[in-house]
Amino acid sequence: MRTSDQKEGLSVPKTMKAWVLDGPEELRLVEKPVPEPGPAEVLVRIDAVAICGTDVEILTKGLPAWVKGGLPFHKNFTPGHEYMGTVVKLGPGVDEYEIGDRIAVEIHAGCGRCERCRMGMYTSCLNYGLNYGEQNKGHRANGFTTDGGFAEYAVNHINTLVHVPDGMSDEEATLIVTAGTAMYGLDVLGGLIAGESLVVTGPGPIGLMSVAVGKALGAQPVILTGTRDSRLNLGTRLGADHVINVKNEDPVEAVKRITKGRGVHYVMECSGAPNALNEAMDMVNRGGRICLAAFPGEAVPVDLAKLVRNNIYVFGIRGEGRSATHRAAALMAQKRFDAKLIHTHTFPLEELPTAFKYFRERIGDAIKVVVKVH
Ligand SMILES: [Zn+2]
Ligand SMILES: [Zn+2]
Repeated sequence: MRTSDQKEGLSVPKTMKAWVLDGPEELRLVEKPVPEPGPAEVLVRIDAVAICGTDVEILTKGLPAWVKGGLPFHKNFTPGHEYMGTVVKLGPGVDEYEIGDRIAVEIHAGCGRCERCRMGMYTSCLNYGLNYGEQNKGHRANGFTTDGGFAEYAVNHINTLVHVPDGMSDEEATLIVTAGTAMYGLDVLGGLIAGESLVVTGPGPIGLMSVAVGKALGAQPVILTGTRDSRLNLGTRLGADHVINVKNEDPVEAVKRITKGRGVHYVMECSGAPNALNEAMDMVNRGGRICLAAFPGEAVPVDLAKLVRNNIYVFGIRGEGRSATHRAAALMAQKRFDAKLIHTHTFPLEELPTAFKYFRERIGDAIKVVVKVH
């Protein structure tokens, strides 16, 4: 039982500090009203928020954020989506969570009324972005279409909440959603991957978490490719059986060597390299499956004949659908891998621009840069 004293410690002010996006690259710290949770929503006091590559895209290009039917600039919009915190206020009818619960969040609360939401594919909600004014269909993608986590408080639908396991630090809890994306990719690829072979291309946060989750689910061997030895070494610590530095070795030949010419069952593509899909097709065996969790900036040629002749399946994933974050959080609660390894830096909320600088320039080998809010 929580005492009333502890609850009083969670009293909510009227206004809060929040970063808003003016023009491209223009973040400004402002005072904003603390939002009110509606039905099936809670108010989250944000304790920590991680910076993601997508935040950098929003900062520079606006997309994929989409606010009030357009680009997110000069709309008092607060980005940030990989956050965790404490439930401090319940909207009408909420009994699934209690005040004081520590939670991590998923990004997407689908509308719950479209075909995809009803299939559990709420990250592909057909009413994406239709959440303002007369078009309000209940969809939220915090930090994309609604206010996000570079602030002291945010509103979240209860479907987006995941309990933070006891004893897990705030910093580690911000990584649940990243692990959830990896889990969703592996789920889409087939789910039961024990004893099956997996290549992960690209040792960014999602790639590294794909190695960790894949290994925790029993994939064997797990092979990681990349260009930086420091990241590949982290991959080994997170469970990779083999790492390939593509600067020193052709990755397709290396995968063939490791699998004695057979190729692998699955590739999780997390590099976004222009030729990654063509290489992935040469890494999987006939009937193999490829999941694209990253993509190049421009359209690229693909050898479709090879895809068809070899009965190769290709999937694209968006975010962390089908409650994958709950499964990822369960693995982390059981300490099946140490997500903390990819957290490298922490800054206070006031130093968000510095945190972005560290993330973008990879200062001090930065991987996951976390902003501590409370
Ligand atoms: Zn992200
Ligand atoms: Zn929907």
